[in-house]
Amino acid sequence: MASNRKLLVLPGDGIGPECMSEVMRIADWFANYRAVSFDITEELVGGAAIDAHGTPLTDETMQLALDSDAVLFGAVGGPKWEGLEFAARPERGLLRLRKEMDLFANLRPALVFDALADASTLKREFVAGLDLMIIRELTGGIYFGEPRGIETLPDGTRRGVNTQVYTTPEIERVLRVAFDLAGKRQGRVCSVEKANVMESGELWREIAQEIHDKEFPNIELTHMYADNCAMQLVRQPKQFDVIVTDNLFGDILSDCAAMLTGSLGMLPSASLGAHDGTGRRRALYEPVHGSAPDITGRGVANPLATVLSYSMMLRYSFDLGEDADLIEQAVKNVLGGGLRTGDIMQPGKAKVSTRVMGDAILQELNALAA
Ligand code: NAD
Repeated sequence: MASNRKLLVLPGDGIGPECMSEVMRIADWFANYRAVSFDITEELVGGAAIDAHGTPLTDETMQLALDSDAVLFGAVGGPKWEGLEFAARPERGLLRLRKEMDLFANLRPALVFDALADASTLKREFVAGLDLMIIRELTGGIYFGEPRGIETLPDGTRRGVNTQVYTTPEIERVLRVAFDLAGKRQGRVCSVEKANVMESGELWREIAQEIHDKEFPNIELTHMYADNCAMQLVRQPKQFDVIVTDNLFGDILSDCAAMLTGSLGMLPSASLGAHDGTGRRRALYEPVHGSAPDITGRGVANPLATVLSYSMMLRYSFDLGEDADLIEQAVKNVLGGGLRTGDIMQPGKAKVSTRVMGDAILQELNALAA
C-alpha cells in the first residue's frame, strides 16, 4: 500500500537483523489490518556497511536518514570489527546519524510489565506497573563544553578540565519536548539539575519555569536536585511521569531507571531532533541493547526492545497512539501468558525463540483486533 510516511530501517549487525525481522512482520500486520503503512527503505549500517562499502554509514544512507520521517535502528558492532581504529568502527555510523540529524532529546522509558516485575532488583510493589520517561539532553552540556582537556601546570601537576555549558535555546528546546510528551502521558514533568551549586543548573531551572508558565501552564512542573532524584528513583520510582535533565545527569539517571526494569532485552529508546517547519521532527528509534555477539545467529534474542521501539515510533513520530497501545497490550498479554525468551526466563515459564515470540505478538494482535 502506498504511503507518504517515509521510514528508513537500519537493522545493523549481530542480533539487530534478527530482532528487526520480527518488527517488519508486525509492520506488515499493521499495513494489512490497520491501514498503517510506510514507505520502507532498508539499508546497511555499522559492520555490515563496512563489509559492503568500507564505511559504517555511506553518504547516501545518511541522506536517506535526513529525508525520512523516522529511522528505525537495530544495533551495531561485534568482534569482527573491534581491531579497526576508532574513527572507522561500526559505532561511528550511529554517532554520525545522531550528530547530523541533530538529535538533541533522548527518550528512555522505564516500563515494567507486571509479568516481569520480579526481574527487578527492587521489591515488586515498588516497580509493578512502573511507567516513567527520562528525557536526556543529548548534544550539549559537559560532554561537549569548552574549554576541555588535560594540561600540565607550571609546577608540574596536571589538571583535567571539562566545562558544563548550556544556552537558553538548548534548554528551551529539550524542555518543550518534555512538556509536549507529558501532554500525551500523565501531564507531569520533573525538571532535574543542581541549581543549588551550579549556575548552569540555576539557568536551567529558571528557563524551565519560564517555558512552563508561558507555553504549558496545564502541565504540572516540579524541580528536583539530581542527587535527590537518584535517591527517589530507587525509593519511590512510581512518583514520576516525565523526568527531563541535562546530558550528564541524564546519562546516569537513565541507566539507573533502566535497571529498575531489570531486563536489557525489553528496553526501547528514541532520540528526537527539531521540527523542520513542515511539522516533521527528525527521529531515530532503537533498542538500548547492543548487537549481543554472544547469542547472534542462534535465534534466541529477545525482539521486544526493538518491537517497543517501533511502538514508540508510532506514538511519537506519527501520533498513532492507539496503534502503539495495541502493540504494548500485545506484549503485556504474551508475557502474561508465560512466554519468555532466554534473557527474561523465569521458573515455570515457557522458553521460546525470537521467531516464536514474534509469532505470539502477531497472534495477540489478531486477537486484540478481532
Ligand atoms: P549488548 O547489549 O550487546 O549485550 C550485553 C548482554 O546482554 C549480552 O550477554 C547479550 O547477549 C545480552 N543481550 C542484549 N540484548 C539482548 C536481547 N535483545 N536478547 C537477549 N539478550 C540480550 O552489549 P555488549 O555485549 O557490551 O556489546 C556488544 C556489541 O554491541 C559491542 O560491539 C558494542 O560496541 C555494541 N553496542 C552497540 C550498541 C548500539 O548499537 N546502540 C549499544 C551497546 C553496545
